[in-house]
Amino acid sequence: PLDTTIPDPALIVLIGAAGSGKSTWARTWPSTQVLELDQFRAMVSDCAGDQSATLAAATVLHTALEARLARKKTTVIDATNTEAHVRAGLLDIARSYGVPAVAFLVSTPADVCVARQTGRSPARAVPEDVVRRQHAETIAAFPHLRAEGFAHVVLADRVHRLELLLRRAGD
Ligand code: ATP
Ligand code: MG
Repeated sequence: PLDTTIPDPALIVLIGAAGSGKSTWARTWPSTQVLELDQFRAMVSDCAGDQSATLAAATVLHTALEARLARKKTTVIDATNTEAHVRAGLLDIARSYGVPAVAFLVSTPADVCVARQTGRSPARAVPEDVVRRQHAETIAAFPHLRAEGFAHVVLADRVHRLELLLRRAGD
């Protein structure tokens, strides 16, 4: 649980509920390294919150991921990734390009994730029951991530990338 190793290159799979802070963590990497599912939903449907666009968005995201891993480029997947079948699709791609995968867990308490939905626009706010399910899935997944195929399982609150970001923001 104290693993903080993030090799380079690596596929870094963020895992956490809506509002847990994934995109905030993602901003500690160079923006070109981050593939955010919301942006791919917007790309294919003009609406980042359109859940009916998820399959098409994920297909385009996978294509971008393959192009990057073929070049051995470190890539961060900013999506909830709380479902095992979603992670399995990403792990398959990493394996086929010989790039190690890192699970980066953002396990912010469910009540905090829920509270953070209230300030969001209706299109971006995720219903409370969904947020709580995503949080429960995150916690339940933790002990199985190594067996799924992740070379490293890193807990967000064990690393100090945010300090770098905050220091930069304060400059
Ligand atoms: P989604 O899955 O819906 O995209 P997310 O996991 O990407 O959510 P963020 O958008 O990164 O979540 O964060 C949600 C809110 O919480 C933002 O307003 C952000 O500023 C705040 N936040 C994130 N991380 C922290 C932190 N470490 N301390 C305080 N506030 C934070
Ligand atoms: Mg986000």
